[in-house]
Amino acid sequence: VNILAIESSCDETSASIISNGKILNNIVATQSVHEKYGGVVPELASRAHQQHLIPVVQEAISSSGMAKSELNAIAVTLGPGLMGSLMVGVSFAKSLAYSLGIPLIGVNHMEAHIMAHFIDEPKPSFPFICLTVSGGHTQLVLVKSHLEMEVIGETMDDAVGEAFDKTAKLLGLPYPGGPLIDKHAQLGNPLAYKFPISDMPGLTFSFSGIKTAILYFLRDQIKENPNFIEEHINDICASVQYTLIQTLMQKLKKAAKEYQIKEIAIAGGVSANSGLRRELEVLAEKLKWKTYIPKFEYCTDNAAMIAMAAHYKYQQSEFLGLDASPEARMKI
Ligand code: ATP
Ligand code: MG
Ligand code: FE
Repeated sequence: VNILAIESSCDETSASIISNGKILNNIVATQSVHEKYGGVVPELASRAHQQHLIPVVQEAISSSGMAKSELNAIAVTLGPGLMGSLMVGVSFAKSLAYSLGIPLIGVNHMEAHIMAHFIDEPKPSFPFICLTVSGGHTQLVLVKSHLEMEVIGETMDDAVGEAFDKTAKLLGLPYPGGPLIDKHAQLGNPLAYKFPISDMPGLTFSFSGIKTAILYFLRDQIKENPNFIEEHINDICASVQYTLIQTLMQKLKKAAKEYQIKEIAIAGGVSANSGLRRELEVLAEKLKWKTYIPKFEYCTDNAAMIAMAAHYKYQQSEFLGLDASPEARMKI
């Protein structure tokens, strides 16, 4: 069974082909138009998807050595994401499926981030808990099977990736700032400055308080020393990153204890963060967890994870009608 998968939910246009459960390729075109705006501009994202989609799909097909006629299904991200961006991918996928006379498979982007764990060994065993940390989401998910997942905790306001990106913006770093904070943090002292670790009830996260605390902290420091940011960027980044990671780990520990699960995975763009990866290994050692961290290329948005999710949906014949439409706020 050969499936072509397409991802276009945010600012990455990506295509991947999976053959009998094995990922053959993962072509990703990242949009650079958003850098100067400090965030993704939806209208520009849709237009860039329109420009990139056909070349990206063509490259996936040609590098697989397969003919279009050998495809058995077309999979696409149905949501959640930016409506205009999703529309480009979904419309294209529908017309391709229709013209080839093969079924269409709709994939939830957040489920797919988790399914990235089934691309390579070692694969987590069920049930496991996945901390999904990305640009738009912060979720604790109880994963019962390839197709059965339950959100057991999430953020009531900003996502952790957003907290990384907004902090970076305050520091004058270009978008997306998460990877740059990570880079500076590696050279700084995580205990140089103290920011509040939010304590919401249960498994609920909140990141808007930290963002405000950082804003006021920087404003006060700059009053005393206009060059404060330039002089202390590494320590600021290390301290912010430390606080964000502690906030995440606090709830992850709580979830693992509550559900008595020691199979622990992380997924989503922020799971590329080196501090988070290190901290997870420390906890794994201490709490006897078995932890799973995706390869870098499968952390941020990519179509291989969509293809992996589609592989399991195909086995269950979970197909979509051609009247399907994207869902910007699709839930797990
Ligand atoms: P969602 O998946 O919720 O729809 P998204 O698709 O935009 O959102 P991803 O592509 O999964 O999110 O992740 C992008 C986020 O990951 C950005 O916020 C980015 O700053 C963050 N990120 C990427 N690498 C790192 C890193 N090394 N450290 C911290 N954050 C990072
Ligand atoms: Mg992105
Ligand atoms: Fe994503």
